[in-house]
Amino acid sequence: MEALAEKDLAHLLHPATNLAMHRKTGPLVIERGEGIYVWDTHGKRYIEGLAGLWCVAIGYGEEALVEAATTQMRKLAYGQLFASRSHEPGILLAEKLESWVPPSKRHTGPWKFLFGNSGSDANDTQVKLVRYYNNVTGRPNKKKIISRLNGYHGVTLASASLTGLPPFHAHFDLPIPGVMHTGCPHAFRHAHPGESDEAFATRLADELEALIQKEGPDTIAAMIAEPIMGAGGLIVPPEGYFPKIQAVLDRHDILLIDDEVICGFGRLGTRMGSEAMDMRPDTVSIAKALSSAYLPISAVAVPDWMHEAMLEPSNQVGAFAHGFTYSGHPVAAAVALRNLELFEERDLVGHAARVGVPFQARLQGLMGKPFVGNVRGKGLLGGLELVADPGAGKRFDPSAKAAIRLAALAQEEGLIVRALAGDTIAICPPLVITEAQVHELFDALERAIARFADEQVK
Ligand code: PLP
Repeated sequence: MEALAEKDLAHLLHPATNLAMHRKTGPLVIERGEGIYVWDTHGKRYIEGLAGLWCVAIGYGEEALVEAATTQMRKLAYGQLFASRSHEPGILLAEKLESWVPPSKRHTGPWKFLFGNSGSDANDTQVKLVRYYNNVTGRPNKKKIISRLNGYHGVTLASASLTGLPPFHAHFDLPIPGVMHTGCPHAFRHAHPGESDEAFATRLADELEALIQKEGPDTIAAMIAEPIMGAGGLIVPPEGYFPKIQAVLDRHDILLIDDEVICGFGRLGTRMGSEAMDMRPDTVSIAKALSSAYLPISAVAVPDWMHEAMLEPSNQVGAFAHGFTYSGHPVAAAVALRNLELFEERDLVGHAARVGVPFQARLQGLMGKPFVGNVRGKGLLGGLELVADPGAGKRFDPSAKAAIRLAALAQEEGLIVRALAGDTIAICPPLVITEAQVHELFDALERAIARFADEQVK
């Protein structure tokens, strides 16, 4: 084993990793990247089919971002936004974001952007924000938050509670009190035989209504949702889902928090995923592609009416006592600002919409390949679900680790993809991918599927 790999095993504790398996297989040490490709320490090239962790939207090796970081670091390496201190990159990034985040449902003025460092802390901030808002507006009992089974919202205590996946709760004494989960809009798994999209969406909205009635509408502050669920299984809700869900929430004055950490910034061929999925949120979480992950930065978009309530003279609660040393770090903000300027100069959202057409066509083309039970996606986001028996939709035995095996075979074929819960493979390449590269990606995936199928019949 090479020296770096040995040192990895000796010294690193990998997050969210099957540590026993890691000890056996060792790490894949990536050394450099350019565009949609990365190279390992042996010089082998891979298509980064997940854009890192759904985040390197602009692709690797973007010199303009290196330049933005170094220029800002030389000028002002650190600056803060606490207690009325401010700095240019933070101000200009917040201004720029106004044109990227579509108006909220009850828009009364510009968004206010509250910066953080990760998607998880953005969603923790959301929990605190809605609690704080209901405290200052005299509704201290309206605090609970509804999330969805299979939703993924992060790993800190509150955001892991919002996440609707058992491993993120088991052994951590989570979820925290006041977080509940409603049904997952995964038609392939949960729609009844013959049930239309419309009927399935109506059933999910009825289920949400029943949960709200059981808990008491006056106790529920907000619901959080990703436009398309990412890490929980690449789940695309049925047509008409969000309007029906929102009608229920509106009836009970429950806010909708939009988690755009994966879907934001062009992934679905629109600025925010909400536009593609007919969602009209009240607040928004953004991260990942905001800086194309060249540096960590996240933000919560706070609507003007919520901000107004925070400065009411009658606000007896005091300051919104929340924020991080690195909230709006000037170097990260300068990189994010330049990243969004490049998105605009290169029309990356339009590009994602255009290249998303052959991408989705190739994804659909996987149906009918052995052991492929379902494919789904939008824009440059796709998932394929493996099944032991496509006719019956029968799952593989979990011990077969089918998706993990397919991802390993794809890696051998020079393609990095991610195996998710529910035997789904996620594909989420950098937005700069060309049409020719889309074919290269799916050709590699098809080779991996063929090898996977061969192994099953042996
Ligand atoms: N929300 C969504 C939808 C995500 O996909 C993720 C991470 O994948 C998060 C939140 C958490 O972001 P982070 O890993 O930056 O804390």
